Amino acid sequence: MKEEMQTFTGNCRHCGSGIMWDAKKSKDKAEDATLKCNCNEAQKYQQHLKNAEKIKKSSEQITEFCKEREIAPSEKALQLCLDGGQLVADREISTYAIKIGAVQVSFKLKADGSIVLTLKFTHSQQEEL
Ligand SMILES: [Zn+2]
Repeated sequence: MKEEMQTFTGNCRHCGSGIMWDAKKSKDKAEDATLKCNCNEAQKYQQHLKNAEKIKKSSEQITEFCKEREIAPSEKALQLCLDGGQLVADREISTYAIKIGAVQVSFKLKADGSIVLTLKFTHSQQEEL
């Protein structure tokens, strides 16, 4: 059976605004309405979900970036990156940066509240005499 577009209505969990939207299905109307609302709290919530998604994906991106440079990050190191990224997303810290071998991993929050992952290969020859 083909799913048809339907019109749903729901109320934002934060401000209670009634929202109407078209979709094929809606498992949780309050959740979907909150995801479409423009109030401050709903936007914070949307940003939170987006950041959580980005942090989840960053594990792959870090692994991939390291692999191309023949560095194999341990699971503990990756977890540390994700935990640090989460702290940044939660605004508990403003920047998080660590190095895995010669790869520098850093998470920062942009002014609009979205999290940015930066990967840098910092291979430099250095001699200690
Ligand atoms: Zn709202």
